[in-house]
Amino acid sequence: SKTQVGFIGLGNMGNPMAKNLLKHGYPVIATDVFPESCKELHELGAQILDNPAEVADKADRIITMLPSSPNVIDAYTGPNGILKKVKKGSLLIDSSTIDPAVSKEMAVAAEKMGAVFMDAPVSGGVGAASSGKLTFMVGGVEEEFTAAQELLNCMGANVVYCGQVGTGQAAKICNNMLLAIGMIGTSETMNLGIRLGLDPKLLAKILNMSSGRCWSSDTYNPVPGVMEGVPSGNNYQGGFGTQLMAKDLGLAQNTATNTKTPVPLGSLAHQIYRMMCARGYASKDFSSVFQFLREEEGQ
Ligand code: NAD
Repeated sequence: SKTQVGFIGLGNMGNPMAKNLLKHGYPVIATDVFPESCKELHELGAQILDNPAEVADKADRIITMLPSSPNVIDAYTGPNGILKKVKKGSLLIDSSTIDPAVSKEMAVAAEKMGAVFMDAPVSGGVGAASSGKLTFMVGGVEEEFTAAQELLNCMGANVVYCGQVGTGQAAKICNNMLLAIGMIGTSETMNLGIRLGLDPKLLAKILNMSSGRCWSSDTYNPVPGVMEGVPSGNNYQGGFGTQLMAKDLGLAQNTATNTKTPVPLGSLAHQIYRMMCARGYASKDFSSVFQFLREEEGQ
């Protein structure tokens, strides 16, 4: 039988990801700082412990899925962190989207304890997490990739090796910068079309058979009523939070600054998502930029 896998962070993404590990027959040992998050997984048979150190004491393969860099630093190196109790030879996979520099620091700290750290952020959202169709972008020592793949294949349709530790984050940050730019572009385009008298469903249909098509127009349309099963049809609840998008755009800006790379649209997208956070959109899905633009124009 399969040996247990630790899972830390059972939020919007971590919860369905851990469920897929259970489905594939892996006993799961999990924790989250917010006890309510653990309820569903506990009912499905996972063992719930108090903190990451306790998880590391029992499982030698651990996946972390946390909001941002400070949470990852805390879960690995904090007083009740993984590295307090980690077993030698453990494989630690962080699927959070964080600063690649922090991933490198965690890898160094893990190595000191005789453990291996890899960054494996994901693309795909809550739907893909539930259906096990995420894309994982993996950075770390190549010899460990096969071991990581065994677990990640239970949760994803694509597992891509990117290079040394931190390169998974680099790929993820680039993707999300383009995603934000595309979502804002789709939102302002749809809004303009509506104001020109076009039916939003018809406009989306035309975009999606034309060169303006993108993921935000054909899979995650931000206009309520255009598509079913997306956050725009549910008052922008669930999905990928505006605050998390603002965080990822900030990470992109940091890395662009460090490498002296011009990213003018990424910079503007960052400002727009930060403004949204300040205006009450922080926990709404990031496609709510459509609603934000409508409010800006007083509608
Ligand atoms: P979330 O806020 O829903 O979940 C994070 C969970 O981590 C929460 O339940 C929180 O209580 C827990 N947590 C925080 N600090 C902790 C600690 N020190 N120890 C234990 N638990 C802790 O976030 P999410 O939407 O699941 O996203 C997780 C990561 O995945 C983020 O980095 C995000 O950018 C990335 N991501 C999200 C999506 C998406 O669509 N939601 C898609 C791709 C990537």
